[in-house]
Amino acid sequence: MSETVTMEGPVCPVPIRKRGRVIMGHGSGGKLSQDLIGDLFLPPFDNPVLRAGNDAGVVPIEDDRPLAISTDSHVVWPLFFPGGDIGRLAVCGTVNDVAMMGARPQYLTAGFILEEGLELGLLEQVVDSMRLSAAEAGVHIIAGDTKVVERGKADGLYINTAGVGQVWDGAEIGGDRARPGDVVILSGSIGDHGIAVLEARGELGFQSDVTSDVAPLNHLVEAMLATSKKIHVLRDPTRGGVASSLNEIAAQSQVGILLNESTIPIRPAVQAACEMLGFDPLYIANEGKLLAIVAEEDATAVLETMRQTRYGEESVVIGRVEAEPKARVLMKTAIGTTRIVDMLAGEMLPRIC
Ligand code: MG
Repeated sequence: MSETVTMEGPVCPVPIRKRGRVIMGHGSGGKLSQDLIGDLFLPPFDNPVLRAGNDAGVVPIEDDRPLAISTDSHVVWPLFFPGGDIGRLAVCGTVNDVAMMGARPQYLTAGFILEEGLELGLLEQVVDSMRLSAAEAGVHIIAGDTKVVERGKADGLYINTAGVGQVWDGAEIGGDRARPGDVVILSGSIGDHGIAVLEARGELGFQSDVTSDVAPLNHLVEAMLATSKKIHVLRDPTRGGVASSLNEIAAQSQVGILLNESTIPIRPAVQAACEMLGFDPLYIANEGKLLAIVAEEDATAVLETMRQTRYGEESVVIGRVEAEPKARVLMKTAIGTTRIVDMLAGEMLPRIC
């Protein structure tokens, strides 16, 4: 890539126009999160890379492939849940955001905010989980920071990770690249992570065997990119779920996305939990799934490749990109009607990641 990105700073001090206070919905990954970013964070920091609104920022570096850089903070409660813990989440979340730009994650940093009184044995377990997840992903944690706050000022432990990696040769991926005719592929069942965390909190009210899907997806992405140069968009549907991620993409690309409800995989236990709690699984967080939007001619080959990988065995086509209605996600339901699938409006499950 030879073009340069011009970073123009803000022309005048940005007035604080926002009144009121932070509410839980500002962390939902849905509409309120988008508003907070768009109104309060984007204007003062505005530049083309940030404005692109992707999972990681991609910047050119001289005479070499572009770099993808991402950062993510993890405040999940409780710290351990079926299938994972805050450490695995902190590594995989950032690895996946870098991978979603068609990049190979290589190095991470980790910042820990510890609450006075946290058991060192517990911290050691979390760190060991990070070590295992990093080894699985093939990344190195090369810098870190530790801060301690007084008892009662944090919930045990928060972790921020940042990650960097170079974009694979020939990969041109971004939320604005979906085109009419493209095929929408999902790498497996939805809602597992959110329901597993609720179970760990004892909020399900019944026994379930759902485990979190938290996993590093970079090897899956690498296999996909080796199969096709026509992968247009990759995104991990974390907070806000599949519905919010697809709405972001539909808006970035100014296209419509039509889903087919009967093809979207949902485990029976997740479906049952959602029905009892009144949740729509389309809005529940996933931590080991990706959405891929691929040119029609390569979709079958990409799907076959995905199904041969550990975290893509259950990959399916769930929909298609259309020219209209722009910036909208529609879904053909199991009973044959069509409904609008909107962004997550408020907050459904706080502190899920
Ligand atoms: Mg993401």
